[in-house]
Amino acid sequence: MTLRSLLRRFAILLVVIVSLLVVRIAWIAAQDVAQAAIARDAVLRLREALVAAEMVSKERGPTNAMLGDERPARPERVQALAEARARTDAAWVKLAARLADGRPASEPARRTFEQAREALGRARAEVDRVLAMPRTDRDPARLRTTVLGMVAVVPQLAPVVDGFAATAQAALPAVGEDVQGARLAAELREYAGLLGSHFTAPLARRAPFTTQERLEVERTRGRIDQLRFLLQLRVLGPGRVGAVARDWAQVEQHYFGTAMALAESVIGRGERDGAYALDAAGFAAAYVPDMNRILGLRDTLLGLAVQTAQDESARAWRVLGAVSAAAVLLGAALVAASRVLRRRVLQPLAATVRVLDELARDEPGGTLPAAPADDEVAAVIRGVGTLQQHARARHALERERDELIERLKSQSATDFLTGLANRRAFFDMAERELAGARRHGVPVVVMVLDLDHFKRLNDEHGHDAGDRALRAVADAVREQLRQDDLAARYGGEEFALLLRHCEPADGLRFSERLRAAIAQATVPLPAGGTARVTASVGVAASSDHGHDLEALVARADEAMYQAKHAGRNRVALAVAPALTDPASPAGGA
Ligand code: GH3
Ligand code: MG
Ligand code: MG
Repeated sequence: MTLRSLLRRFAILLVVIVSLLVVRIAWIAAQDVAQAAIARDAVLRLREALVAAEMVSKERGPTNAMLGDERPARPERVQALAEARARTDAAWVKLAARLADGRPASEPARRTFEQAREALGRARAEVDRVLAMPRTDRDPARLRTTVLGMVAVVPQLAPVVDGFAATAQAALPAVGEDVQGARLAAELREYAGLLGSHFTAPLARRAPFTTQERLEVERTRGRIDQLRFLLQLRVLGPGRVGAVARDWAQVEQHYFGTAMALAESVIGRGERDGAYALDAAGFAAAYVPDMNRILGLRDTLLGLAVQTAQDESARAWRVLGAVSAAAVLLGAALVAASRVLRRRVLQPLAATVRVLDELARDEPGGTLPAAPADDEVAAVIRGVGTLQQHARARHALERERDELIERLKSQSATDFLTGLANRRAFFDMAERELAGARRHGVPVVVMVLDLDHFKRLNDEHGHDAGDRALRAVADAVREQLRQDDLAARYGGEEFALLLRHCEPADGLRFSERLRAAIAQATVPLPAGGTARVTASVGVAASSDHGHDLEALVARADEAMYQAKHAGRNRVALAVAPALTDPASPAGGA
C-alpha cells in the first residue's frame, strides 16, 4: 500500500471516529436541551395548576364570609365572591388550555382536571343553594358540609400537580428540590387557609369550638407543623441563599409569627369561652395577608426551578456550540494537515521517487522537485540531487569517451589527406560487401586507379602541389561515386573503388566517366597557376573473376598496369580467365 493511500485511510478513520464522538456528544447535548425544555414547560404548568388550586382556596374566603352573613347579602360581599370566582375561573380556563394540548401524556391529567372542575361546580352550586336559604335555616351540619365541599376541590387537583412535578423532575432532576419545595409551600398555604376557615363558624357564632371543630383545628395544625418542618429542611438546606432564605424568613416572621399568634389567641378563646376579640371578617383581614407570604416563597421556588431549567438549556446549548466549533476546528486542522502533508511530503517524495527510478534505469534526465521546506524531505531531495549530478557527470564522461572512440575509429579508418577511407578500412568494408554480394549473387566491380607521372608533378611543383592534386582527385571520386559504392585512398597516389550491383559494362562506363572527370579537374598550384593530372584505371568484375576481394584487386591492379603500358590516362578491363587471349587486352579509353 502506498504511503498516500495509507494516510488517506488513516484520515478517513480519524474523521469517522471524530464524527461519531461529535455526533454522540451533540446528541446528548440536544437531549439535554429537549429535557430542559420539557422541565421548564412542566414547571410552568405546575405553577398554573398550583395557582388554580390557590384560587379555589382564596375563593373560600368570600364564600365562607357570605355563608356566615345574614340575608340579604351585603353587596360588597356578593361582589367579592363574584370577583374571587372570576379569578378562579380565569386560572382554571388557563390551566384547561394548557392541558388541552392534544398530547396523549396530558390526557389523564386533563380528565382529572375535568372531574375537579365538576366538583368545583357542584360545590359552588351547594354554596349558592345554602346562600339562598335564610341564615336561621342554615344548620351547622349543612354549613360544614358546604364548606368542606369547597375544601374538597383542591385535593382533586393533586394528581394534576403531581403529574407536572413528576414530569419536571424526570426531565431534569436538578429542579426536584425547588419543585418539591414549591409544592410543600402550596400545601402549607392550603392548610393555613383551611385553619383560617375552621375559625369562620365559631367566630360567626361567637361561641366556643365544638368538639368536631377542635378536632379539625388540631388536625390542621398538626399538618401545618409537619409542613413547616419539611419546608424548613428544604429551604434552609445547604446552598440555600438569597431569595429563598429571605422568603422563608418572611414566612417565619409573618405567618408562623404574627398570623399564628393571632390564630393561637382565637384557638385559646374558642377552647375556653368563645369571647373572641374580633369577628370572622376581622380575623380574615388580619390573618390572610400574613398567610399569603407563603405564596411568595412558593413563587420564588418555582422561579428558581424555571431558572434551573433555563440554565441547563443554556449549558447544553453551549456544549452544542463548543462541540460544533471543535468539530469545525478539528475538520479544518485535518484538512490543513493533509494539505501540508501532501505538499511537503507526498508530492515531493513522489517526484523524487520518479527521478530515483530514472536513475536506476540510468536515465538521469528528470527534474527534481524544489524542497518546500528545509526538512528531512529536503535532505532526501538533496541526496538524490547529488546522485543525479554524479550520474550526469558520469554520462558526460561516457559520452566524451564514446565520441573519442568514434573519432579514433573514424580516424583510423580515414585517410588524413583526402578524407576518403584508408586502405585498411577499404579492405574491411569491401570484405563485408563482397561476402553479402557473394551470398545474394550480386555483381560487383573493383577499380584500381593510379595517377600518371605523379612523381614528376611532385618534382616540378613541390610536394604540396602533389597533395593538392591528391585532394582534387579525391573530390572528383566523391562527386562521381554513387551512394552505396566504396572508395579509398589505397596507396600513395593510388585509389581503389568498389561498385555494387554493377556488371562489367557499367563498371567500364563508370571508370571512363571518372577518368575524364579527373583529367578535367584543375589543381591550383601553391606558386600560382594550375596543373592537371591524369589517371590510369584498372577494372575487374566479379562476374569475370569471382567474389574474392584479393583476386579482384590483383586483377584490377594488373589491368591498371596494362592501362599504364598502353599509354596512361585510360581504362583497362581485366579479362575473364576462361577467355584469356593475350592478343586482345582490355579496351582502352
Ligand atoms: P607512373 O605511375 O605514371 O608510372 O609514374 P609515377 O611517377 O606516378 O610513378 P611512381 O609510382 O614511381 O611514383 C609515385 C610517386 O608518388 C612517388 C611519390 O613521390 C609520390 N607520392 C606518393 N605518395 C605521395 C603523397 O602523399 N604526396 C605527394 N605529394 N606525393 C606522393
Ligand atoms: Mg603508383
Ligand atoms: Mg603513378
